Amino acid sequence: MVLPNSTIGVLGSGQLGRMFAISARRMGYRVHTFSPESDTPTGQVADFEICAEYQDLDAVKKFAKNVDVITFEFENVPFETVEVAEKFAPVRPNGEILHITQNRLREKTFLAQNGFPVTPFRHVKTLNELQKSIEEIGAPAVLKTAGFGYDGKGQTKIKSVGDIETAFANLNGNEAVLEAFVEFEKEVSVVAARDLRGHFAHYGVIENVHANHILDVSFAPAFVSKKTEKEAVEIAREILEKLDVIGVLCVEFFLTKDEKLLVNELAPRPHNSGHLTVDACVTSQFEQQLRTVCGLPLGATDLYKPAAMANLLGDLWETGEPNWQKALQFPEVKLHLYGKAEARSGRKMGHLTALSETVEEAIKVVKKARVALK
Ligand code: AMP
Repeated sequence: MVLPNSTIGVLGSGQLGRMFAISARRMGYRVHTFSPESDTPTGQVADFEICAEYQDLDAVKKFAKNVDVITFEFENVPFETVEVAEKFAPVRPNGEILHITQNRLREKTFLAQNGFPVTPFRHVKTLNELQKSIEEIGAPAVLKTAGFGYDGKGQTKIKSVGDIETAFANLNGNEAVLEAFVEFEKEVSVVAARDLRGHFAHYGVIENVHANHILDVSFAPAFVSKKTEKEAVEIAREILEKLDVIGVLCVEFFLTKDEKLLVNELAPRPHNSGHLTVDACVTSQFEQQLRTVCGLPLGATDLYKPAAMANLLGDLWETGEPNWQKALQFPEVKLHLYGKAEARSGRKMGHLTALSETVEEAIKVVKKARVALK
């Protein structure tokens, strides 16, 4: 067991690491963060910020030797980095889970082979294979690079056979996965945690609305049937068990019009859709990550009140600094900013969370507060 006053290493240095570090420091832990950047969202609140390339294995070794346990906040950390780190301190969730989930093809294959519901997909390496795969799967379909994709990056929709060549050229020689397009009713996620003894906790079903492939608004509880809720949680439980996850993992789903759940993606860490747990739940997803990676018991996941979260993207800064005072005039709204200096379009800079008596009201208030920022 890794007890308070021990040191936790975080690979990656973004907002997920920042919110993890805040939870960890609150409970008396020290935090070291490792990434190629400096003055990072995590580094600003950590005890120690190591600035080195992930491929600098001597630096990784030194980092790992100085901490009691390691977790990550970014799943594109190279697998070799984790392999080296694992020799000196436990990495939770382990490197094998990271290896599977950082590549869409491995992830989809894992899911399909273990009987989890996914949209039909094919591995694509050549233009010929893409043509053949479109014949098999049909159009529309989505072509995604197998590695290093997030927030719709490296994705092209193929509406008809005429789009094949351009879509293939967009891959720039990278391996890809072709997926059948899902006419979904909505997107939902289950953020779940599993401790060293195999105990499981979850936050129920969170509903997610995307804009330009990036999460825009999340709310809980989701507008789904009891049956869907039960199924989604059961699928999440089985995935965490099958992967032997020690930590937090988020399962993103498509819910089809005929109420079928399809797993879209796994994230072996806290997730943007779970940010509302910070203000709305007894134990946040970040504290749950802390507890699980340290071998502590899980915390309660009860939702105090219906909640909604709205992301704040860099675009909000286009005409200058957002009007913080105005958004904070809504007393039930909480502001989270990640300490990023440069506001680029599409970049996640922060979020707002609103707690209300009903989900509908929480969504309305959080959106109003965001509009007030402009
Ligand atoms: P991803 O990076 O795979 O999570 O994709 C980002 C977003 O693109 C998803 O949240 C969906 O809104 C959309 N998307 C991705 N794959 C599909 C698909 N096969 N069918 C329909 N929409 C998709």
